[in-house]
Amino acid sequence: MIKLKNVLTASARVFLLAALISATASASVRAEEESGPAFAPPVTKVTAPQIGPGLSNSSKLVVVLDPGHGKTQGHYSGCSFEYNGVKYYEDEITMKIAAYTKQYLEQNTDYVVYLTKDSAEKTVPLEQRAAFAASVHADLFVSQHVDSIPGNGITRNAYGVSSMAPKAGRYNNELALQSQEAAKTILDQLSALGLHNRGLILRDSQNGTHFADGSLADYYAIPRYSQMYGIRGFIIEHGFINHTSDLTLFLSTEDHYKALGEADAKGIIQYLQKAGKCKFTPTTDAPQASQTDSQKAGESTGPSAVSP
Ligand SMILES: [Zn+2]
Repeated sequence: MIKLKNVLTASARVFLLAALISATASASVRAEEESGPAFAPPVTKVTAPQIGPGLSNSSKLVVVLDPGHGKTQGHYSGCSFEYNGVKYYEDEITMKIAAYTKQYLEQNTDYVVYLTKDSAEKTVPLEQRAAFAASVHADLFVSQHVDSIPGNGITRNAYGVSSMAPKAGRYNNELALQSQEAAKTILDQLSALGLHNRGLILRDSQNGTHFADGSLADYYAIPRYSQMYGIRGFIIEHGFINHTSDLTLFLSTEDHYKALGEADAKGIIQYLQKAGKCKFTPTTDAPQASQTDSQKAGESTGPSAVSP
């Protein structure tokens, strides 16, 4: 837990900067999983050889859970929805789901589980979450979220669970395939609860961000950084907060959060029992990404020199 505290301390150092960025980025920051490069890719920041998968001496399986969102400038950045007089916040729900996933996994002494933060109130920059996962040699890095259709109304056509995972067929292809398989294993567990399975959502960078080998990067920050750091990582969306069935059947009670968290844990165990520790050797030693001029000027407004 010492390393986690270090990360949180580091996050506190950049909190003000992060808040400033969030304020200037756009009002649609609520969906960090969809905002893509909310922070600049880690160009050369992590070069220490001790960071990366398969390098831990521990035989235990290391899982890093990332409860999505948190407070920025006093307001929750995740989605929210009011229903029958009760307001539901993604930030609070993901913290509960993560806690139940951790609790379930830790019943098995073969697992070491870290969270990227210890409170729904906290916000950790996206890049630092992946850097932290890499620093503890994560065998699986799962960012837990709740979906929504932007706006205040009820959605009828969008419902169910999905995963934003790395796209295969390019940089660190084998790793991307492993992440996809792990994500699908978790989605199967969630759909067994009765949630519709929307499958994998794979999306290319919209602003010309490339991986170190010149191939196009992933749009979503968590899978992109996971690929860069050479760890298995992706986002899991646990249903739509503004779809009444998803909300009332799966996202509104403590029992619901426990069921979702435990489904994630079961999927994680099922995958890691089969796949074992992440022994992937990244294409390059250090995470790198190229930035186009348009990215520097436009979409990527994040700091390029934030120290982890
Ligand atoms: Zn989210």
